[in-house]
Amino acid sequence: MKVFKFGGASINTADRIKNTANIIRSYKGEKILVIISAMGKTTNALEKVVDAFYEGRKEDALQLFQQVKESHLQLLKYLITVNWQQAENQLHDFFTEVEWLLHDKPVRDYDYYYDQVVSCGELFSTSLVSNYLNETGIKNKWVDVRDVVRTDNNFRDAFIDWNITREKVKSGIEPLFRDVDLVITQGFIGSTDENESTTLGREGSDFSAAIFANILDAESQTIWKDVEGVMNADPREFPEAVILDALSYREVVEMAYYGAQVIHPKTIKPLENKNIPLHVRCFLKPGLAGTVISNKPVHHLPPVIVLKKNQVLMELSSKDFSFVEEKPMGQLHEMFDQVKIRPNLSQNGAISLLCCLDDKPEKIEKLALAASEIFDVQLEKNLTLLTIRHYTEEKIAELTKGKSMVLEQKTTDTIQVLMR
Ligand code: ASP
Ligand code: MG
Repeated sequence: MKVFKFGGASINTADRIKNTANIIRSYKGEKILVIISAMGKTTNALEKVVDAFYEGRKEDALQLFQQVKESHLQLLKYLITVNWQQAENQLHDFFTEVEWLLHDKPVRDYDYYYDQVVSCGELFSTSLVSNYLNETGIKNKWVDVRDVVRTDNNFRDAFIDWNITREKVKSGIEPLFRDVDLVITQGFIGSTDENESTTLGREGSDFSAAIFANILDAESQTIWKDVEGVMNADPREFPEAVILDALSYREVVEMAYYGAQVIHPKTIKPLENKNIPLHVRCFLKPGLAGTVISNKPVHHLPPVIVLKKNQVLMELSSKDFSFVEEKPMGQLHEMFDQVKIRPNLSQNGAISLLCCLDDKPEKIEKLALAASEIFDVQLEKNLTLLTIRHYTEEKIAELTKGKSMVLEQKTTDTIQVLMR
């Protein structure tokens, strides 16, 4: 059994959907669980619907939702002819679920509504693609993943209940493979024991795929993307970036930790635990091998570069020249937790502490205000945090040329430099 995950860009036009179907067709005879994201920018569009609804702009919310509906219906008309009515009915059932909610007034918290609305993007896309595949002779079963993946009710960042999910995958998904080779379902979403929809955090469907791969003891997981594999740097910033053929689980976890937007950071653990290789491949060039991520250590990697812009340096100094000791440090960590922000880099001195943070203005303001109770707080904005794994002195010199360094931290394999 294999697990495939197709991202939103792989199905954002009729041609792309056909292309995805061709990739799936080329694995004829193999058992595959396929997870498909919401189409293109649907998740972002649905976020706008929730915002409008929650701000009490009901007409705007309905109007924005209408656009999402139309883009799906248009594709459906274009792709499906024989079973058109049945496919449309299924989409309309999902649409109705959302519209009912949009006609209400918000009485619960924002995150709850977010999950009820935004989760539908994957229901629309998978229903559409599953019907299309069946129509073109690629027999498959569609599963509403909310009947399978159980979570707590921490909306927008729900936590998986592995025991119940495992049972449900065994009883609800495994048996389907007796009748068909292909099961299509959603990533990113789940449901509580009260049947409320939940989401696992943006880009969470990589993680969902890994949950299935783990429980089903898959031989491999493949994430099909619009890039040729994992690269050692963002090619938009560094045109000389190269594809990395192989990476260890460890390296990918490190890269994600330092902010590389490779794959959802929670994806690796379920795979590592069962030693399941993860392939990152390009749906536009299925002939390429892409990147394989496994437990094999990979030596001689080129420098791996992560650039984080829009950083803030927060300098916290004790008010009375006393040492920054355990107690204020503990209080500070509590503040980080409360504001839900994590420093990207921090450095302790005798009477001061430096933290580098993403510039999310609201959070920074809250944090600075809370911290000013115990510290003198100073902020510097518009900084860039450069991380290089497997650095060389030449690479450091090249990438820091003409910049002034504000803070630097170095271990044997990683250097981080905050630059002005
Ligand atoms: N559709 C969701 C998002 O765009 C989840 C995913 O694609 O992984 O964040
Ligand atoms: Mg996506």
